Amino acid sequence: MFLRVILIGILFWIIARTFWRMMDGLVEGVTGKRPGGRRGRTSQASQPTKLVRDPVCGTYVVPDATHALTRGDTVYHFCSDQCRAQFSAR
Ligand SMILES: [Zn+2]
Repeated sequence: MFLRVILIGILFWIIARTFWRMMDGLVEGVTGKRPGGRRGRTSQASQPTKLVRDPVCGTYVVPDATHALTRGDTVYHFCSDQCRAQFSAR
């Protein structure tokens, strides 16, 4: 009996959620606005810089040309010339 109550509760919760999502989509389609702004993405200017891992010492570095080494199709980035030299010596 108790289990049935829980199951019915979960079922209602799923239905309610689906219903509200549908309503959100409807409102969005009619008005062209995003209700609540929950799904609004932050501005594209605030993109985080992707860090790459130094294969020698494991430090995460900002990829730039200063300590880069191309081997085959892969570009490796290093924290220092020391690491780059160590890598190319292998
Ligand atoms: Zn390093």
